[in-house]
Amino acid sequence: MLNSFLDEPIKEPITVKNYVGGEWVNSKGELVDVINPTTQKVIARVPISTKDELNIAVEEAQKAFSSWRSTTPVARARCISRMVGIMEERFEELSRIQTMEHGKTIDESRGETRRGIENLEVAASIPSLMMGYNLEDIATGIDEYLIRQPLGVFGIIGPFNFPFMVPLWFAPYAVATGNCIIVKPSSEVPISQTKIVEIAEEAGIPPGVWNVVHGGRNVVGEMLDHPLIQGICFVGSTPVGRDVIYKRCGETGKRVISQCGAKNFVLVMPDANLERTIPACMTSFYGNAGQRCLSGANLIPVGEGLSDAEYSVFYRKVADNFVKAASKIRVGYGLDETIQMGPLRDNAKKNRVVSYIEKGLEGGAKLVLDGRQVNLEGDWPQDAFLNPSVFEDVKPDMEISQEEIFGPVASILKAKSLDEAINIIHSNPFGNAASIFTSNGKLAREFQYKVNCGNIGINIGVVAPMAFFPFSGSKDSFFGSLHGQGRESVHFFTESKVVIQRWL
Ligand code: NAD
Repeated sequence: MLNSFLDEPIKEPITVKNYVGGEWVNSKGELVDVINPTTQKVIARVPISTKDELNIAVEEAQKAFSSWRSTTPVARARCISRMVGIMEERFEELSRIQTMEHGKTIDESRGETRRGIENLEVAASIPSLMMGYNLEDIATGIDEYLIRQPLGVFGIIGPFNFPFMVPLWFAPYAVATGNCIIVKPSSEVPISQTKIVEIAEEAGIPPGVWNVVHGGRNVVGEMLDHPLIQGICFVGSTPVGRDVIYKRCGETGKRVISQCGAKNFVLVMPDANLERTIPACMTSFYGNAGQRCLSGANLIPVGEGLSDAEYSVFYRKVADNFVKAASKIRVGYGLDETIQMGPLRDNAKKNRVVSYIEKGLEGGAKLVLDGRQVNLEGDWPQDAFLNPSVFEDVKPDMEISQEEIFGPVASILKAKSLDEAINIIHSNPFGNAASIFTSNGKLAREFQYKVNCGNIGINIGVVAPMAFFPFSGSKDSFFGSLHGQGRESVHFFTESKVVIQRWL
């Protein structure tokens, strides 16, 4: 057999440090183990930093702000470009670390590294992105212009499912526009952001500009209350994003981007090309073991224009092909290049997914593929693993259809028309992403026009916006006004100032 097993870049457990004011600092906080979900071995220890440590980081960031904001945008962009160069050199190591700390397959990690780097590349064009505008003669002899200025210190809070990329939806734009940042990675996956700040240091980003403080909700709480923090970028679950982050930022008057949970629908129309649709669905529903805010979760074969008999045949064809493909997915350690799905991030997350499978069965749905019967490639502990599951006979109001499971579980629902399918989508509290597979342009446009979700896919299963487009969302998936990535994030990280000048 082809030797497809890649080297593990972390050989011994490391104790991750905070990076504050240009110094690597050991936290005085309690240390928590970071476990590789595949091997169940400890690969790192992460501190739960203290209130004082966060306060020092904010003070250092505020201190660095006055000289960083007056560094020319071109010089700031050059630092960001140097980070891109170093990341390209360390591309493979950075990707393998993600697989070790999160469990995703190496190809998924490489995709994540690439997407992260693209945000730095877009942010490196800050001299153009940050430009204001002007108009002469708004009155006789008077001109008016708008300039954009950075605000100070921002807090960036990451989720566990994209340890490398998600903080990079914000950090490069915040820094390129002249702000200073404190990144608080998920304590479940702290290594990737530690590597990124190592690279920021090597690229010559001055002390205090790009800081990392590890920890959990205590650090987040302090960030939310700190008077010197101007704004918060959060990505995580809806209860935290809505009830903690958005609420507290409203109370303390901070800017906020709060990207939250999801329950995404994939519609398959009778004219869809199934040979391409089913593989796209596999990536959508089971990529990242379903732990992706853009994962497909509810599949609806739609009987638009079909008689009842024709719909039964079409429905069976889609469902059978879906189940057959899902049952063939190779599950194991993502450092093996032949693996298509890794474990859940940890045992607790697996148990949560299993509890949803039980809820589906109790609610009367039919489990046609049971991923609880774990079948692995390789001799790994089964603790955090599940294989793909598929439910049929799912009704829109069942818990498994309404709530975010965040695991490799697909629910198949039925709809006789596109309107009925769109009503089902709208009966769901989330509004992150929805996709349609069809070769009918009119139906595709109707879908794009009517569906109330931030990210729409047409013959695309994972609707991940490129770095120069915003990552949108609606309803329980997004709280805030502007979004991360590209031009919108530049508006988020700057204040516009209007100047009117009379030429005497
Ligand atoms: P989470 O909400 O548990 O944690 C996110 C961050 O908030 C972590 O850094 C964590 O330390 C912190 N946190 C957790 N509980 C907190 C509390 N009570 N108070 C303050 N801070 C707290 O989310 P997660 O499990 O790490 O990530 C998965 C979630 O993120 C899923 O719901 C997924 O859909 C969502 N997500 C959304 C997007 C998007 O763009 N919409 C992208 C990726 C992930």
